[in-house]
Formats: sequence, C-alpha cells, structure tokens
Amino acid sequence: MRAWVVARPGPIEREPLRFVERPVPVPRSDELLVHVRACGVCRTDLHVSEGDLPVRRPQVTPGHEVVGVVASAGEDVRGFMAGDRVGVAWLRRTDGTCAYCARGAENLCPASEYTGWDADGGYAEYTTVPAAFAHRLPDGMDDVASAPLLCAGIIGHRALLRTALPPGGRLGLYGFGGSAHLCAQLALARGATVHVLTRDPAARRLALELGAASARGAYDEPPEPLDGAILFAPVGDLVPVALRALDRGGILAVAGIHLSDTPPLRYESELFYEKELRSVTSNTREDGRDLLKLAARHGIRATTHTYPLSQAQRALQDLKAGRFDGAAVLVNDLPPRH
Ligand SMILES: [Zn+2]
Ligand SMILES: [Zn+2]
Repeated sequence: MRAWVVARPGPIEREPLRFVERPVPVPRSDELLVHVRACGVCRTDLHVSEGDLPVRRPQVTPGHEVVGVVASAGEDVRGFMAGDRVGVAWLRRTDGTCAYCARGAENLCPASEYTGWDADGGYAEYTTVPAAFAHRLPDGMDDVASAPLLCAGIIGHRALLRTALPPGGRLGLYGFGGSAHLCAQLALARGATVHVLTRDPAARRLALELGAASARGAYDEPPEPLDGAILFAPVGDLVPVALRALDRGGILAVAGIHLSDTPPLRYESELFYEKELRSVTSNTREDGRDLLKLAARHGIRATTHTYPLSQAQRALQDLKAGRFDGAAVLVNDLPPRH
C-alpha cells in the first residue's frame, strides 16, 4: 500500500514526509484492519512532522482523524464485522488499570498510546486500531465531514467542558481553525455567546457566518468580559491576553498539545479574582462518544477542504501557512488492494 512516513522531522516547507510503498499492516488479535476512506489533517500531525513532539516511533505514519471501513478483524475482536464504518481517533490504548483509568480519567494514563505518534495512523491506504478504541460513526454523516470530528471535534468538546461555561455564558475562542470552528458550533448549540479572536481575516468571516457575536484580532479585547475562554492557537503570548479578557471567576483552557512558552503572569490583572488557567490533555473514549452524539443531534459540520492522499505534505504546508479556513481532509482515492 501507499503510506506517508515522517522520514526525518523538520520544517514542513523542507518536506520531512515521504510517500512510500509499505506492506498492508497485519492487525493484532484485538485490532481491526481499516481501509481508510478519509483522514483529517490535524495540527498535531504538523507537530509530529516538524519534531515539536519527540519521535516515539521512527518513520511513523501520521493521521488520527480516520474514517474507514473494517477490512478484517483480529481473532479476539467481538462486535465488529468486515464492512462496518469506523472512526479512529488520537487515543489508541491505555493500560485500563492505573489510578487515572480507574477514576475515569483515561486521558491521563501514563501508559497511553496515540495514533499517528506511537503507532501508524491514517495517512495511508490502510491502518489498524484496537477494537476497544474504535468509534462507531453516526449514520447519515459523510466520510469527509465526519473525519475532523475525531480529533478537532473531540478536543473542542473537551476544551469547552474544561471551561465549565455557565448556561448562556460568554465564551472567547483564541484562534479559529479546525477545532475552534467545531467548538463554536457546540457552544452556540447550548446557548452561549461566542466571541472569536484570531489574526486571520478569512477565519473571522467564517466565525461570523457560523453565528459568532464578534470576530476581532487575536490581541484585541473582546466586546464584553468572558466567563470562559479557550486558547486554540499554539501561542503562549496569548495566555495573559486571554486571562485579562476573563470576568471574575472565568476559566481559560489551553486546548493544544503544544504551546510556545508563556510570558510571566501578573497576579493582580491576570489571575486574581479566582480566574483559572487549565490545560486540556488528550481525551477519553467517552468524550468521543458524547461528541459524535452531539454532532449528529445538532448537525455540527466541519468546513472542509479536501486533498487527495498523495497531497498530504501540501495539506500540512497549507495548514501551517493558514491557506484554508476550517479543516483539511485527505481522501484516499486509490483503489482497494484486497
Ligand atoms: Zn491507565
Ligand atoms: Zn489531533
């Protein structure tokens, strides 16, 4: 099969990925072999390709927003059959036995493994997934539209939960890419007022089209104080900016896996009055199931830009350069091998 691999992590402009020929992977006894139909392009794939995240598997195939069809199942798998449509997300495996797993915080499991980082992901014709971590996708949602839900959507959902936004609350979104534009729809569906703060004029237009009350520059002040804010841009300089925009008792959640260093914080204007700064780490399978249900119920859809699988590197370059709004999705246009 054809698969992209990170040959040597480095700036995406210098093309660290190669499109190579590889054997179709053999699923372990508890895994599914999935024929990839579509795979979303996430900023984390860029971090893996550029080396912002350390190498966990040399020559890894990125991609963790996979929509595909089960081609075969390992001998211990129950509940899935060839032909079932499934989603493959970032969280791939946990030990299921540690204190975090025991209390329902499997996103914090120290033994967790991730798709497209510890194991080969969906920038390929085929991939594998442990059956216990595969997601069933709602009917009637097409492959391309579903793909970005599997990371961008889930993280947006978890980040929104982490802000503990009160009913009808005022939410600020800093950065407005794949995850934020899905998060905005989730927040609006529960009656929030959404203010978007981003440098990109096209993203500001998309925000207003989706129903945001305002859209301004990343370092501008929102038109009213915020009960909650989410930092999607991987820019540590925006942490104090967003904290100053919070009302008393407001919570800022940092959604990304990677953030440039934050400047020193000023206690009086940025933390006092019980403002809180929180991170968001991965997600649980329950987050994924809940998000997929919410997306189906409220008709939440990603604005997508498709690329053929063979153009994955260009999609990542375009993501870094901010050449599209919404989310990029790779479409596997190669004929099945089996
Ligand atoms: Zn664990
Ligand atoms: Zn992701």
